[in-house]
Amino acid sequence: MLNIVLFGPPGAGKGTQSERLVEKYKLIHLSTGDIFRFNIKQETELGKLAKSYMDKGELVPDQVTIDMLNAEVKKYDNPNGFIFDGFPRTPAQAMALDKLMQSRNSAITMMLSLHVNEEELIKRLLLRGKDSGRTDDTDESVIRNRIRVYEEQTAVASEFYQAQGKFYQIDGIGDIDDIFNRLCHVIDSHSMIM
Ligand code: AMP
Repeated sequence: MLNIVLFGPPGAGKGTQSERLVEKYKLIHLSTGDIFRFNIKQETELGKLAKSYMDKGELVPDQVTIDMLNAEVKKYDNPNGFIFDGFPRTPAQAMALDKLMQSRNSAITMMLSLHVNEEELIKRLLLRGKDSGRTDDTDESVIRNRIRVYEEQTAVASEFYQAQGKFYQIDGIGDIDDIFNRLCHVIDSHSMIM
């Protein structure tokens, strides 16, 4: 199995690159942000709770997010692998994900972290906000808060994978195809499946 954590700040290109990776490696794409947004649309209790945090650019509490992610993963019996997009966002989530994978006799293969500077992130998110319909992409103060939350609470989660020798940083600036090729190069040279 190839289980990838696609990491990086908001606007780094995780969603865009996930779409391509899913197609090439036949993986299941799990984006916690997408699942929360689906719940908001369906007006579920989970959606209402998540919205109160998302509107401010804050993280949804760990246990809520972990329970939701566990339930999603359990829907798939024997996939080629998963691509986790936007999860884990804290060390507690990273530990929970390892435990979940272990319980399935599997493991995270690698964390691929897209590196993009802050000015470029803000530019991309404001541009995305024009047609994504995402309210958290239109307000610059919310965008800045999401980046601050990433730096203060999320970036540290990468240490968990660094300690396991599973962390790879990729330059997330440039042409979408070039970034995709950089990701594929790392995957193909560091995982057992080709
Ligand atoms: P994203 O679509 O990944 O940019 O996520 C949008 C928002 O959903 C974030 O700003 C958080 O409020 C919430 N969210 C998504 N994933 C997580 C997570 N793993 N932990 C906590 N909150 C999350």
